[in-house]
This record gives sequence, C-alpha cells and structure tokens, in this order.
Amino acid sequence: MRKNRKTIDDILESLIQVAHQNGASDAKAVSTADVTVDESLTNFCRDSGCENYGLAVSCPPHVSGPAGFKELLKDYTRAVVFKIDVPTETLLSKESLEVFRSLHKIAANIEKAAVEKGYNRSKAFAGGSCKPLFCQEHPDCRVLSENGKCRHPHIARPSMSGFGINVSQLVKTAGWQMDRITRETDPEAVKIAMLCGLVLIGR
Ligand code: SF4
Repeated sequence: MRKNRKTIDDILESLIQVAHQNGASDAKAVSTADVTVDESLTNFCRDSGCENYGLAVSCPPHVSGPAGFKELLKDYTRAVVFKIDVPTETLLSKESLEVFRSLHKIAANIEKAAVEKGYNRSKAFAGGSCKPLFCQEHPDCRVLSENGKCRHPHIARPSMSGFGINVSQLVKTAGWQMDRITRETDPEAVKIAMLCGLVLIGR
C-alpha cells in the first residue's frame, strides 16, 4: 500500500514536470475530492451567448455536462491542475487563440504522458471551444456533421466549463489567485490573467 502511494506520487510529480516543460506557469497535484461541480456554470455557456455554443462535439449541449462529469469523477482519486499566466491585454486580443491552443496542448500532453505511464484512463480538460482553435477553416466539427473522427484528437480537449467544473474553487485549492476577466476588464488595472486546465489521472 505504501509502495503504491509512493508510485502515484512519483508519477504526479513527473506529470507536473511535463506541464512545465510544455509551457505551463505552474501545476499542482490535487485530490479529486477538491474538484467540484457547479451546474449554473454550464448554463453560462448558453446564456452568455457564446458564439461557439453547440459548434463542437466537445461543447454543450453535446457533452455529458455536470451529471456526466460527477459520474466520471467517481472513478478517479487524483488529478493534475495547471495554469498559464498571460497578460490580460493578450487574452483580450486576437492573440488569445494562440494561448488557448497552448492550453489544449499542455492538457493533451499531460494526458499522453500519464497514459504512457500506465494511467490509461487519464482524461484532460482545457478551456475554450476547440472549433475556433483547431477547425476554424472548416464550416463544421467533423464529429457532428459527418459522425466522423475528430480532426485533432492529439491536441483538442473538451472545455471544463461545459461540465460545470468549478475553476475558481480549483484555483483556490492549488493556492493560486485568479481575477475574473471579462471584455470590460481594464488590462492596466488587472495586468495578468490566468487560464487553467485539468487532467484526471486514472487507470
Ligand atoms: S477539433 Fe474540430 S473535429 Fe475535433 S472536436 Fe473540435 S471542432 Fe470537432
């Protein structure tokens, strides 16, 4: 029992290193007991008038949502949460697409590293819809339009918001501080913004 615990701790530590090597500003191992779900956050995807709502198979209403995520969570005990610190000015500009692509890349690479270490049920979540990030040249998400395969399975990951994952709580658990950024945020008043991702680690 002691040996297993040491092994998972070692693996989590190596996954934190993978996060840093891929450009994360920081990463922490957390217990899935600290991953909470707030159903009202899912409604935000629809009610905020997100222009990408429903455009990808990885976004609401096509994902299993809070209920599905809560069910999924029962099979996991550990997770890695990571963040990218980014100038607010960048996040509010067109350059944000590149930052969101990095977020997906880090999430997918942590997941890949975990799978390679035998944790083959590991599952990554990022932020932002994959449709404008990876399929902007295509009219439709191929999974939705043709019942086909995702064009970018090695990098595109579902967004945490579609599952109601409480990112604020997660950030607090990791010991970070996050300012909420909206289109009205003054980049001079709030200079640094944060994007987060989550990878459930399991086998
Ligand atoms: S990357 Fe493209 S094909 Fe894959 S889920 Fe996203 S929109 Fe669909």
